[in-house]
Amino acid sequence: MSNSIIPDLKSREVWFLTGSQGLYGQETLDQVASQSQEIATALGNSSDIPVTIVWTPVLTDSDAIKRLFLEANSNDSVVGVIAWMHTFSPAKMWIRGLDALRKPLLHLHTQANAELPWDSIDMDFMNLNQAAHGDREFGYIQARMNIAHKIVVGHHSNPAVTAQIGTWSRAASGWNAAQNMKLARFGDNMRNVAVTEGDKTEAEIRFGLSVNTWGVNDLVEAVDAASDSAVDALVAEYEELYDVDPSLRKGGDRHESLRYGARQELGLRSFLEAGGFTAFTTSFEDLGGLRQLPGLAVQRLMADGYGFGAEGDWKTAVLVRVAKVMGSGLPGGASLMEDYTYNMEPGNELILGAHMLEICPSLTTSKPSLEIHELGIGGREDPVRLVFDTDAGDAVVVAMSDMRDRFRLVANAVEVVDLPHPLPKLPVARAIWKPAPDFTTSASAWLTAGAAHHTVMSTAVGMDAFRDFADIARTELLVIDDDTTLRDFTREVRWNAAYYRLAQAI
Ligand code: MN
Repeated sequence: MSNSIIPDLKSREVWFLTGSQGLYGQETLDQVASQSQEIATALGNSSDIPVTIVWTPVLTDSDAIKRLFLEANSNDSVVGVIAWMHTFSPAKMWIRGLDALRKPLLHLHTQANAELPWDSIDMDFMNLNQAAHGDREFGYIQARMNIAHKIVVGHHSNPAVTAQIGTWSRAASGWNAAQNMKLARFGDNMRNVAVTEGDKTEAEIRFGLSVNTWGVNDLVEAVDAASDSAVDALVAEYEELYDVDPSLRKGGDRHESLRYGARQELGLRSFLEAGGFTAFTTSFEDLGGLRQLPGLAVQRLMADGYGFGAEGDWKTAVLVRVAKVMGSGLPGGASLMEDYTYNMEPGNELILGAHMLEICPSLTTSKPSLEIHELGIGGREDPVRLVFDTDAGDAVVVAMSDMRDRFRLVANAVEVVDLPHPLPKLPVARAIWKPAPDFTTSASAWLTAGAAHHTVMSTAVGMDAFRDFADIARTELLVIDDDTTLRDFTREVRWNAAYYRLAQAI
């Protein structure tokens, strides 16, 4: 039985809106309708686009436009709208609708035909296919009204176009997940740590998500309430899915520790399900009556799509949940990650990322091993955990900092590499990566930006999805990738400080 709370994005709708006007007469409008239906159908059938594309009737006046945008706002299945001006749609008609729109917007600049019909083109054809200037009129009003929107240019048969629409629809789905997120914190963030602090009220205003704290003993009650038969069943599932250390198996001298790990998973899951939570945090400084720091339980809940941050780090938990939804159905995964330690050999610098326990097994296609080891921190019994290596390949790490007047996202494109050496004594899941553009530039830029030591690592969606997400959220995103130079990056940080303060409404 799947316990996944990662939505199938086909359950999410993006509405396809076509702009025109009454001037052309019914015959032309019928052609506009059928051509826009063809495009919407082609987009809906594209394997690049994970959501359901819903064609809506051609819009020719201000009242209809506003009504449609209000309907999109109030329909919970709708994560965004695509707008295309097939003909000329005078943009003052769009002002009241755009002003009311609360869902992400993509402006598709396209036309029905890829090639000009050179031999047969006449004025009728020109008048029917005039997105080349109709969309410019629409671009003007969006720019003038400062409407956040994604622009995609090209014919719908172009794979670069469907790929961009697909990525944006993933970001819009991530935004939808943020807007509906309830995050439970068990305990506060780690004492004296600065970067895991943050304005939870501002987070609700900015991202629509609610972050609240529960006493850890509420969780302990749910853990203790798990039934022995449910524990039996879960332990049997572990034995099937993982290479379980002999000492943890039935009859092994530490089997009881594994049973307690299963109990923690059952308790956490029932608490989160009962409260409708999609993300949570724990704190090793506040474990109340919990006998182990939750390791295995957290890893498995992350794999099922829950956002998670350690040490009370709710901002990273938010990013993990958003990445889970954006990556729905794609190979790879998303996890809490922490820049832990380095290989600092000149010319062969590598970052070893891990955490005390809580790295999500969605980052591997190998069979994790289920082990128990001592944990010096937290002062509890030895915790059970999954140990594995993250699959090699492209990834991105993203952090969120609260800069007091705004949230800042910082993202680094990285390449996860195969372990250059075995790590026989490292008892936690890990990833080893090379950051772009190079170690020195990456780390210097990261430090310049004040980016956190906790991140989400995504191997499913890449930089473009986070870029679209940040644009939808109107939140600062600093990107460190192959194009980054420290000089430009430092200037961007400085300019952004001015821009984001000026851009705030008084
Ligand atoms: Mn940490």
